[in-house]
Amino acid sequence: MAGVPEMARVNQAERLVSALDRRMKGEHLPRRPQWHCQMCAPETPWPCHPARVRLAEAYARDRIGLSMYVAGLLFIVAVELPDVAPAELYERFVAWTR
Ligand SMILES: [Zn+2]
Repeated sequence: MAGVPEMARVNQAERLVSALDRRMKGEHLPRRPQWHCQMCAPETPWPCHPARVRLAEAYARDRIGLSMYVAGLLFIVAVELPDVAPAELYERFVAWTR
């Protein structure tokens, strides 16, 4: 049953992605699996600047909560963007929350 914990992680990560719609008020959502912003110029990497502002606002002073949330997204992002180096994904998705 080695695959079960991994499926649980995938399901959990999918729930995190689903929560984006409400957090972002339906704007500047990522287009998957490319992870480009749906509103900004074509091929703008997500999270774009407005997306970062909205996420930061949604978490207010809870910077740790914000970091944990975007780190949770990395599990899906890493699967969908296999050609991007993990360090680059970390910089793009997580490092800005520090
Ligand atoms: Zn955007």
